[in-house]
Amino acid sequence: MAILLETKNICASYGSAEILTDVSIALEKNHILGLVGGSGSGKSTLARVITGLLRPDSGSVLLDGEILSGKRDRETCRRIQMVFQNPDSSLNPAHRVGRILSDALRLHIQHFEIPSGMSKSEFIQERCRTLIGRLELPADTMSRFPSSFSGGQKQRIALARALITEPDILVADEPTSSLDVAVQLEILKLLKELREENGLSIFFITHDLGVVNYLCDDIAIMNEGRIVESGKSSGFFSRPLTEYGKKLLDAVPGINI
Ligand code: ADP
Ligand code: MG
Repeated sequence: MAILLETKNICASYGSAEILTDVSIALEKNHILGLVGGSGSGKSTLARVITGLLRPDSGSVLLDGEILSGKRDRETCRRIQMVFQNPDSSLNPAHRVGRILSDALRLHIQHFEIPSGMSKSEFIQERCRTLIGRLELPADTMSRFPSSFSGGQKQRIALARALITEPDILVADEPTSSLDVAVQLEILKLLKELREENGLSIFFITHDLGVVNYLCDDIAIMNEGRIVESGKSSGFFSRPLTEYGKKLLDAVPGINI
């Protein structure tokens, strides 16, 4: 098993309130790891630690087996991209989508080899168009503002912005929680395809075990800032190992296999 990203014994707090206690998780290359837990259990806080937005009190985050320091370098930022629950607060409403995508790409343009005979701005335009096509967004997406799209389309734009840097890891914090069930399913399907196509590893945060069952290879269950159970998702759904895991599974009708 090839571990791409790992947290080891992370403890993190806001002021004097300790939120995460001794959190160790491992994301394998090309796997989807589902982090599931109730509201307020610390899932988003762990995402913030992984993406470098919050510095832990102790413990470490490792990428390719190497400890990431507090201040992330540009290449690490390119490799770990994030999609948030609410696209309305993560997409700048004052910018057209073309600008949102091209700004994200321009920040990491040194990663890309621009074909000879193509200017930088032509390359940027073309890559934006490719992503828009792949995420099945309308052809006029680049010239429109975020507010003119539906919730599902906005999350596709947020996904396009994350994927445009060619990341290795996508951290998705409840990206479908605010969407209708049908739209949610479309996005989950798309994530599965994108994982295959791009060799992506996905750290997928959700409070919904049904989503984990559909999407995730591996599962980690968080309760009150601690990981209480983790392992293969299929193993968990056929036989949860802890009382807490059993309780969670029993609370979801129709999911018992
Ligand atoms: P989850 O994503 O699982 O719902 P969070 O990681 O957002 O949980 O929050 C975990 C705990 O940390 C909650 O009790 C929440 O109120 C608290 N918390 C989250 N963000 C902050 C913050 N910026 N300052 C202080 N407390 C926070
Ligand atoms: Mg959260």
